Amino acid sequence: PLVLGIESSCDETGIGLVRGTTLLANEVASSMDLHARFGGVVPEIASRAHLEALIPSLSRACDTAGVKLTDVDAIAVTVGPGLAGALMVGVAAAKALSIALDKPLYGVNHLAAHVAVDMLEHGPLPEPTMGLLVSGGHTNLLYVPDIATDVRSLGNTIDDACGEAFDKVARVLGLPYPGGPAIDEAAKDGDPKAIPFPRGLSTKKDLEKHRYDFSFSGLKTSVTRWVATKQAAGEEVPVADVAASFQEAVVDVITKKAVMACRDYECDNLMVGGGVSANSRLRTVLEQRCTSAGISIRVPKLSLCTDNGAMVATLGAHLVAKGIAPSTLAVPADSSMPIGQVMG
Ligand code: ATP
Ligand code: MG
Ligand code: FE
Repeated sequence: PLVLGIESSCDETGIGLVRGTTLLANEVASSMDLHARFGGVVPEIASRAHLEALIPSLSRACDTAGVKLTDVDAIAVTVGPGLAGALMVGVAAAKALSIALDKPLYGVNHLAAHVAVDMLEHGPLPEPTMGLLVSGGHTNLLYVPDIATDVRSLGNTIDDACGEAFDKVARVLGLPYPGGPAIDEAAKDGDPKAIPFPRGLSTKKDLEKHRYDFSFSGLKTSVTRWVATKQAAGEEVPVADVAASFQEAVVDVITKKAVMACRDYECDNLMVGGGVSANSRLRTVLEQRCTSAGISIRVPKLSLCTDNGAMVATLGAHLVAKGIAPSTLAVPADSSMPIGQVMG
């Protein structure tokens, strides 16, 4: 089936077109620049930007794919979780298209879509798969016995998201926004063992209660204090060493917990999504630890890892192929949609 996917949960307006598991178009318009001076996404601005970007993105996607809207067999849209007003723009557009084209509507979960997108590049998702989602907005471990019907949240961040920690620490070090790529680059000249920054939720006691959860705010505070102490003493801050040591702390915890989850659930497939999957150290350490644990890793290309419409279309196409009943036109945008709920 030819499926249209609409994504508007945060600051990216994404329109994707897929036929089965073949990608035909993936148009992404971001309002990130508009939020930069506020130091975070402003919901009202994001919603307005979605409204402006949606129709032009839709036209471009159809042009790129060489299809007409009337060729579309089904419409998939992110119904949650995300910013309420932002979600509503995409959901309203999807409902209007569903009525106008008389085609079924699939309201899907944003996180499940992040996992499903891997099918575009690596074919059918092995079941079960462990999903590790690391981005500016989420840090999750998902156990996925069946991407159409059974997605289970094992763990989450209890404070900052992983990418958010990169962005905040970059600011402390005077590196540009977004901080992830800047820290990745600066760390290449640094010693990851220079400073023993804390590994969040990793002690034996932590693991009892928060085995698959993450925490990065203590790490961020620790880096901030360390830098402030240096500055107060009038010493130069060794930016490369701090960046490398911070990055090592993040990567160490994420990779250990991901491998631990795979072992606990006897799952030998790990799928990684989200913008932080671009991190070079994360890729290296994951490769090492997964190889020695006999786990195979799948990481889609970066344009599919960050928020986009193709991932929504891919999950929609999979639901259609599995014969899953569509959503009703009454499906609401649900900003706090439970992670385990694949469809709205
Ligand atoms: P979502 O709504 O999915 O959370 P987002 O827009 O907040 O989306 P993404 O676009 O998926 O997040 O990813 C952006 C984040 O990834 C930023 O926090 C950025 O610093 C981080 N990032 C990008 N490249 C790297 C890198 N090489 N190393 C570490 N972090 C990175
Ligand atoms: Mg974004
Ligand atoms: Fe996302």
